[in-house]
Amino acid sequence: MLARGMLIVLSGPSGVGKGTVREAMLKESINKFKYSVSMTTRPMRPGEKNGIDYFFCSKNEFEEKIRQGEMLEYARYVDNYYGTPLRYVQDTLASGNDVFLEIEVKGAMQVRKKMPDGVFIFLTPPDLASLRSRITHRGSEDSTTIDKRMEKARQEIKMMSNYDYAVVNDEVPKAVKRIEQIVNSEHLRVSRVIDSYRKMIGDK
Ligand code: 5GP
Repeated sequence: MLARGMLIVLSGPSGVGKGTVREAMLKESINKFKYSVSMTTRPMRPGEKNGIDYFFCSKNEFEEKIRQGEMLEYARYVDNYYGTPLRYVQDTLASGNDVFLEIEVKGAMQVRKKMPDGVFIFLTPPDLASLRSRITHRGSEDSTTIDKRMEKARQEIKMMSNYDYAVVNDEVPKAVKRIEQIVNSEHLRVSRVIDSYRKMIGDK
């Protein structure tokens, strides 16, 4: 029997750079994993491709998927739905491959409940000043909106206690290395390998 793959969930407050770290992981990491492409109702941004960055769909289509039980998790974020299609995750893990999710915190908590043997990694800013500067440089929001986003980020950072690991995103290549170390160690966890050793010694 094929060993089941491992689910790796990268999450963290809005503006911390999850997308950038995810892209770097996919390009540079020595770890071989399959990225689960999310589904969203938000409009496509220039340069994005359907099926690569996201599966873009309408609100009705998304709500139908929820009704049919086809989403592992989903969340509403800035008036749009974002979610992880269940089938891809199930099939990929069953085929022995690791699956990598990059999702916001509410969705990550739903996954934690359904798949507690996943590895839950919380990406953190080195400090609040650098988070503010990231949020400020990202868009053309006024200072009230930025204050609101910062307050939301503070609330989200409290969620860290629900995760297994905290990774500081001070520099992207360093964050990638830290995540690789976690993934490598998690592969050696006794609970993940014991079945194959039991088989080796003929223990039922
Ligand atoms: P963006 O619109 O900038 O691509 O993503 C907005 C937020 O949605 C980011 O925090 C990203 O991590 C999160 N996100 C992307 N895909 C998913 C998903 O499948 N589920 C959840 N819960 N959040 C997601």
